Amino acid sequence: MKQKSIIIIGGGIGGIVTARDLRKHIGSQHKIILIDRHSYHAFQPSFLWVVIGWRTPAVIIKPFTSLEKYGIEFHQADVISIEKNDKLIVTDQGNFHFDYLVIALGADNDLPEGISENIRANTFYTFEGAVELSKVVPTFPGGKIEISQSDEDIKYPFAPFDAAFLLSSFYQKRGIGDVEIIINSPNQEPLPFASAEINLHLRKLLDEHHINFLSDSHLNKKQNGQHSSILIQKKSSSQDISIYIPSMKPPDALRTSNMLDESGWIKVNKRTLQTDFDNIYAIGDCIGIKMENGKLMPKAGIFANNQAEVVAYNISQELEKNSDRKEFSGYGFFFVETGNGRASYIHGNLTTDTKSKLSWTDPNVTLHWSKVVLEKYWLWRWL
Ligand SMILES: Cc1cc2nc3c(=O)[nH]c(=O)nc-3n(C[C@H](O)[C@H](O)[C@H](O)COP(=O)(O)OP(=O)(O)OC[C@H]3O[C@@H](n4cnc5c(N)ncnc54)[C@H](O)[C@@H]3O)c2cc1C
Repeated sequence: MKQKSIIIIGGGIGGIVTARDLRKHIGSQHKIILIDRHSYHAFQPSFLWVVIGWRTPAVIIKPFTSLEKYGIEFHQADVISIEKNDKLIVTDQGNFHFDYLVIALGADNDLPEGISENIRANTFYTFEGAVELSKVVPTFPGGKIEISQSDEDIKYPFAPFDAAFLLSSFYQKRGIGDVEIIINSPNQEPLPFASAEINLHLRKLLDEHHINFLSDSHLNKKQNGQHSSILIQKKSSSQDISIYIPSMKPPDALRTSNMLDESGWIKVNKRTLQTDFDNIYAIGDCIGIKMENGKLMPKAGIFANNQAEVVAYNISQELEKNSDRKEFSGYGFFFVETGNGRASYIHGNLTTDTKSKLSWTDPNVTLHWSKVVLEKYWLWRWL
């Protein structure tokens, strides 16, 4: 069989799992190329642990060159566009031809200008932001910490709550009692896609930790298409810490791709992750899968991971001319860090039933350690 080129653009959770699983399924016959704008992968679920000093920045990043030992070619390049008819990926380092393409570019953070240099007003949604915040958190003398969600839909909607609980427990342990933590959210409920019962559990925990959840609070996000810098200027002169949870947007490289639907994200078959175009698949945060209530599934690494496994298997079957196929089920699980070395657990299927099928387990120590093991396993297993 003629050698085929399978290109994966984006080396986040979805891209790496696709590349590794594909190599496992297809042996050495075909070319697997991974393209990312960075030289290293940064594991986003560990960003908050960097903020509170549980991880050094160095241990949660891995160079993409470590994929080469698995026969995966890596190119550091910025993807500029996808030329579907010519089967070309256009990058700032030249063009790449593909026979099969997996788009795993994630979701871009829409950040106010200057936020990455600001220490007291920053975001842990980027690696740089998490590192900057880790410099102020240990020396914070007490005061107000505001965690402000800029949009109804954010990447991994559990993260603002993880942050609030972890910071509350961090200062409590150090005997700094005078810390007021506020979560500003434009939503009415902490997790709008989850049932009333799950939101009740979460609200109860927030109350127990004296974390103030302010619903329906809208940040003065954009003026004339520009982000307002009020938030950054206001906070840079005070002792308080302001944490910004950015809204998200599809990567620029997809803007001219004709693949985005009215939701703004790549349109795929929700079971096979195939786009409307031959031999082009898309997975992870850059796609939009609707739940039964018409809203989009929340974005999470567990979905990117599970979708990657489906796509890698199905491409391998197609290459082998086998008819067996896997499907993405919509199942996901999430640990919510609740402080004091504990985590709660939410799991269920988000594509079949939007609310009733998610279940909640009260926080315990084992669940927190399960999250730690998962992180260690992920970084060891895949890179
Ligand atoms: C603070 C935080 C905590 C989280 N915690 C969890 C958790 O506990 N559990 C969970 O399931 N999920 C969690 N998530 C969400 C999870 O990290 C994402 O859903 C997941 O990383 C999405 O995977 P992806 O492969 O779609 O995209 P990403 O992992 O974001 O990867 C996209 C890749 O594409 C590259 N890229 C983008 N544009 C270009 C371009 N033009 N050219 C070249 N390369 C490009 C980027 O450099 C990046 O490497 C968390 C997210 C954050 C921010």
